[in-house]
Amino acid sequence: MARKHLILDTSWQAYSNCLGVDPDLFFPERGASTREAKEVCRGCVVREDCLEYALANGEKFGIWGGMSERERRRIRRQRALARQEAAAIAEMATAGTAS
Ligand code: SF4
Repeated sequence: MARKHLILDTSWQAYSNCLGVDPDLFFPERGASTREAKEVCRGCVVREDCLEYALANGEKFGIWGGMSERERRRIRRQRALARQEAAAIAEMATAGTAS
């Protein structure tokens, strides 16, 4: 089972572009446009914090860090693949030095 590393610090939210913006904009109905929400996120100074928070906490719904659920799933898959590759390389390196 994969270990989860939750991020509990939400102090970055005090600097977000979406403060005071209708939250519904960031949780559109399935198939509705995400363009307006992403436009708010575009210039947000805490965009990275927001995205990493969503990734670490497994946020499945809404726009976080300027990315949709589908875009965040893609990042999770890419990172999982990169971790697997790094582990395989480390294992090969260890096997190479063990003999
Ligand atoms: S990146 Fe977008 S959703 Fe995240 S804090 Fe900034 S404006 Fe809000």
